[in-house]
Amino acid sequence: TKHLLARVAAHEQLGAFLVVDEDHALQQAKAADERRAAGERGALLGVPMAHKDIFVTQDLPTTAGSKMLKGYLSPFDATVVAKLAHAGAVALGKLNCDEFAMGSANENSAYGAVHNPWDTTRVPGGSSGGSAAAVAARLVPAATGTDTGGSIRQPSGFCGVTGIKPTYGRCSRYGMIAFASSLDQAGPMAQSADDCALLLDAMAGFDERDATSANEPLPGFAASLSKPREGATTAQPLKGLRIGLPAEFFPAALAADVNGALRTALGVFEQLGATLVDVSLPRTELSIPVYYIIAPAEASSNLSRFDGVRYGHRAEKYTDLLDMYKKSRAQGFGPEVKRRIMIGTYVLSHGYYDAYYLQAQKLRRMIADDFQQCFGQCDVIAGPVAPTVAWHIGAQGDDPVAAYLADIFTLPASLAGLPGMSLPAGFGEGGMPVGLQLIGNYFQEAPLLQAAHAFQ
Ligand code: GLN
Repeated sequence: TKHLLARVAAHEQLGAFLVVDEDHALQQAKAADERRAAGERGALLGVPMAHKDIFVTQDLPTTAGSKMLKGYLSPFDATVVAKLAHAGAVALGKLNCDEFAMGSANENSAYGAVHNPWDTTRVPGGSSGGSAAAVAARLVPAATGTDTGGSIRQPSGFCGVTGIKPTYGRCSRYGMIAFASSLDQAGPMAQSADDCALLLDAMAGFDERDATSANEPLPGFAASLSKPREGATTAQPLKGLRIGLPAEFFPAALAADVNGALRTALGVFEQLGATLVDVSLPRTELSIPVYYIIAPAEASSNLSRFDGVRYGHRAEKYTDLLDMYKKSRAQGFGPEVKRRIMIGTYVLSHGYYDAYYLQAQKLRRMIADDFQQCFGQCDVIAGPVAPTVAWHIGAQGDDPVAAYLADIFTLPASLAGLPGMSLPAGFGEGGMPVGLQLIGNYFQEAPLLQAAHAFQ
């Protein structure tokens, strides 16, 4: 813990951490030592890590990357945070992220951009950009992230780390500041599938305080990594595994460096015994408009709680209650958050609801059905995480749509609620990491982790 605290301080310019609390971390580390001395064992006991600042924490301030929550202290810990602490993990602090997790580059944080450790002129991805950068720069061996439309997978890909977004409902959303409740899901980001499995063992599980938490048996993710697949051999640990390659995930427009790295990686999967099969996800492109209707709709509703009354920023000068609401929200929210609230309010409003929101919901169902068709032909689906490697900070200028379009490969699994992971699969332009995405069927995180583990 001491060593990493020093490392975090030495790499402050990455902008990965929003808060570091040395005393708190050392106290937790000491408690872990005492538990160990008393005979307790556990993979995470005493392991330093950090949390995306979207999880509320009792002992550390929580901002969600927004001015709206500057200085906010939660009266309780998010379930995921509490579970990791229970397993003995030591929280060094909180990690930068896009404001309310809205973004793909961590450029929407009210507390400044995060720099990609591989090339500090580039973005780390988002919205869990601080988590990915912190793990990639070896500031912490593990971090929590959240993924609504790709925010664990895409920054993992951009920073060359391993991250998994479990099935929707696998990890509790209690204490995770809500963006789009039907999509939000917590997950681990670390150096390997092995480490992700250990973290997921601690993070996952039913929580009665989250109405959409899944009451599904937990397979023991870490233990499942050492269980050989049926029919597997030492040389071919993935024998019999059918990996589906959706044609729509390999369009002609896919950057050549990304395509090249992925093809090489897929060749390795074949050597490990997997077979590649062609499949189709015909509505892949539609996932962009569908997501950018549903997510803002839910966000506009979720963010109505930030009214300057109950918590968060309150304008200093105002005339009446309405003026107080307006000024507090105008001052507290950044431009991307305001854009989403406006889109969301619009698509939910009378006269537009049927044309946009309802249509999007219908398409969402069809996108989920398309995946089930694929899973008739394969066990896992593989593809890119993003169409390019990490871009340069500021490269997208004032064009939010450019960032939305780059979410094309992560949004389908989010809309369907399926587990997806990103694993490092070589390098592309500028020596930047390329992420390979694996998508599994509902509650089939273990096969994803197994495949990634065999590859790594
Ligand atoms: N880039 C997507 C968005 O801005 C996804 C964000 C996320 O997964 N939190 O909505």
